[in-house]
Amino acid sequence: MTLFSPVDDDVAAENLRSTLGERIVLAGDGGYDTARTPWNTAVDQRPFAVALPETDDDVVAVVRAAAASGLRIAPQSTGHGAGALAGTDLSRTVIVSLRAMRGAVVDPVARTARVRGGSVWHDVVDATALHGLTALHGSAGDVGVVGYTLSGGVSLYGRRHGLAVNSVRSVRLVTAAGELVTASAAENPELFWALRGGSGAFGVVVSLEIDLLPYADVFAGMMLWDGARSAEVGRAWAEWTRRAPASATTSLRVMHFPPLPELPPFVSGRSVVVVDGAILETDAGAETLLAPLRELEPEIDTFARMPTSRVVEVHMDPPEPSPAVSDHAMLRSLDAAAVDAFVAAAFEARPMISEIRHMGEGFARASDGPGAVSSVDGEYLLTAISMVPVPEALPGMDAAVRAVVAAMAEWHGSGIALTFVDRERDSAPGFGASAARLAELKRLLDPDDTFAAAHRVG
Ligand SMILES: Cc1cc2nc3c(=O)[nH]c(=O)nc-3n(C[C@H](O)[C@H](O)[C@H](O)COP(=O)(O)OP(=O)(O)OC[C@H]3O[C@@H](n4cnc5c(N)ncnc54)[C@H](O)[C@@H]3O)c2cc1C
Repeated sequence: MTLFSPVDDDVAAENLRSTLGERIVLAGDGGYDTARTPWNTAVDQRPFAVALPETDDDVVAVVRAAAASGLRIAPQSTGHGAGALAGTDLSRTVIVSLRAMRGAVVDPVARTARVRGGSVWHDVVDATALHGLTALHGSAGDVGVVGYTLSGGVSLYGRRHGLAVNSVRSVRLVTAAGELVTASAAENPELFWALRGGSGAFGVVVSLEIDLLPYADVFAGMMLWDGARSAEVGRAWAEWTRRAPASATTSLRVMHFPPLPELPPFVSGRSVVVVDGAILETDAGAETLLAPLRELEPEIDTFARMPTSRVVEVHMDPPEPSPAVSDHAMLRSLDAAAVDAFVAAAFEARPMISEIRHMGEGFARASDGPGAVSSVDGEYLLTAISMVPVPEALPGMDAAVRAVVAAMAEWHGSGIALTFVDRERDSAPGFGASAARLAELKRLLDPDDTFAAAHRVG
């Protein structure tokens, strides 16, 4: 479908309304502020309209009406990644919010799940747990499956099993031509390649089929020490990761918490250092592996065997929509000097969270039949995150997260992990060698640049 020349706003609004009625929320409508607010509530997105489809046919109708009215389309599931769109003018864009299109159907024999386009990881891990299976989810249960997976997906099982994007078997989406199509190795293979990395730049995904993992339970948890021990714990963890097998995917965080009654007492008003993650070993194997960290006598140690549906709790991500700002870089290595620089910056700049995830192994391996993105270079992933309690705090919090990432410039690699980019930034380093072909396919498959995605292609 060719984007028609822009029509009058009233006509465009009428065209949209004729598709989903009240489930098209326009600027000026009573529900506009609620509908337009993403999970990251620090992002003030002001689209032309928010569409709230409930079926695949609803999505087709909205895409056709928007394109016929000369409007762009931004697919969104939860708005966890809304920061990356914050610099995009959405005044002539319809956010197609898939939040009402959730649910997962598991095929235990094929070990796959068919996941609806607006699902969050809780939907998937709860459904797969009934069959003793799990998926390559990340640290938070309320992150959207599509946004996370199609931009890479850094999982707690990733050093063994790779990026989540490699678990995608097929994608059902509505294209810029307004057609509902399947993309897989057998059908529309070019589009399938592009979606695995290019994500929402190529259409609105109404469902994904993903491979599952055969784990009913795993050894996972966290250890916590007082923040005064950050350098000691950080150096020990960095040394430990140099020998850790692919079965262990862990992270190190320095966190500063304000004194708030809603926080657990063991963190409220404190600075702490935390190691958490998952170990895909027997109990005895995991205990042996963790022994050097336990010798540091953590105040709290929750590492134990647990049902896989509970692994999304281990990292203690905020369970509710939150106002946040973050920055990110990949690190080539992590020697003692790097740990010291990290800890110094975490205490001087004081963002709420300064985090290093252990990457390498499966994360760095391209899969068979890969898509545009199938691996991430770099042994460690650095991210810093701050809450933004009031809009006026944004510049200071932004400076704090940037300061932590800048402090480790000496160790930065050249790549980036797209899912950790939550600000306006050139996505090309995340696409690597695929960037040029992706841009070419975007011109071919979406010639009018109908789709506005968190990570811009081309
Ligand atoms: C608390 C928290 C924890 C996190 N933990 C991890 C982690 O462990 N590992 C990791 O890799 N990342 C993690 N992330 C980052 C997260 O993966 C990204 O923010 C991701 O973009 C979220 O996807 P979403 O669909 O929820 O977000 P959205 O903002 O809804 O979507 C982001 C982008 O994805 C695309 N998209 C989403 N849904 C659709 C759809 N149905 N059709 C087409 N395109 C779509 C669009 O391009 C959209 O702009 C975390 C983020 C937060 C805030």
